[in-house]
Amino acid sequence: MEEELISIKNAALSFILEAEDLKSLEETKLQFLGKSGKLTQTIKDITKIPPEKRKEFGMLANEVKQTIEDAIAQRQENLKQKSEKILRQKIDVTNPGIKPPLGHEHLVTQAIEEISGIFEKIGFTRLRYPEVEWDWYAFEALNFPQNHPARDDWETFFIKAEKDAKKGPMVLTPHTSSGQIREIEKNLAKENKDKNLSIRMLNVAKCYRRQSDVSHTPMFHQFETLVIDKDISISHLKGVLDYFAKSYFGKNRKTRIRPYHFQFTEPSFEVDVTCGVCLGRGCRLCKEGWLEMGGAGMVHPNVLRTGGIDPEKYTGFASGWGVERVLMMREGLEIDDLRLLYSNNLDFLEQF
Ligand SMILES: [Zn+2]
Repeated sequence: MEEELISIKNAALSFILEAEDLKSLEETKLQFLGKSGKLTQTIKDITKIPPEKRKEFGMLANEVKQTIEDAIAQRQENLKQKSEKILRQKIDVTNPGIKPPLGHEHLVTQAIEEISGIFEKIGFTRLRYPEVEWDWYAFEALNFPQNHPARDDWETFFIKAEKDAKKGPMVLTPHTSSGQIREIEKNLAKENKDKNLSIRMLNVAKCYRRQSDVSHTPMFHQFETLVIDKDISISHLKGVLDYFAKSYFGKNRKTRIRPYHFQFTEPSFEVDVTCGVCLGRGCRLCKEGWLEMGGAGMVHPNVLRTGGIDPEKYTGFASGWGVERVLMMREGLEIDDLRLLYSNNLDFLEQF
């Protein structure tokens, strides 16, 4: 029985020394000195030994108990001092601080902010029109009759929802031009006899098309300008395009317009900007000195009429370009797969 007391003492002492915090020390205390603790249980067994040896056993048991209690008290003191020291170190204001890792805006968000700033300087107001849109605003009112083959170029996503009697099915807007008629409607409501209709809209929004390959993502961003006022001509359009190209790509860049066809503009143009590598002389990247930027044109009289505007009184121009496209063009980025932009790959994104 004495041997058992000694082995309990040794076990307890080593547990106490190994206790790394006050909680595990408390557990050790319970394990040995608690009501059902090892030492407590052993002392209860005193009845099993002959009466003449009980006194000696009792004395030894008290000694062991005292030793364990002292060791626990000692360790408790040590641990308290240690944690106070750590605490003092933690709030030492002279220690160098720990910088939390800082993220930054996605490069497409950065581009949208920059583009918006450029247009706001010359009086455009940035707006945002619905991503989930009626066919009417996305196509019909923009001079795309039902079943017109030109609709196929837009690879539209349709929403499973009840059709509207006038506005047709619901779609995910395939271009920012869907904001044109909404903007006209909003401004017509404000027009009065003393004030001309005067629109300078910048619509930046997410667009969706059923396309996904190395140079297309199903979701992308466009920025659309729409200007409607008295005597707006192609010169105004060209002036705004040049201003944007110089502001965004650099002072030494120029734009040119080439005839093209869109349903909702007449005449329509493709807009090119001089290549940033050769500045228009021609090189391996651009071949002939120009890079394609996107579409533009004078608002089609049918679109004005649909919106409730007299095309004899007002004219306007519009342009719609991809944010991702102009961003890639400016940075000279050659991304093998455009889908990387939206892949949440931090190794890629942290470079910008
Ligand atoms: Zn070039």
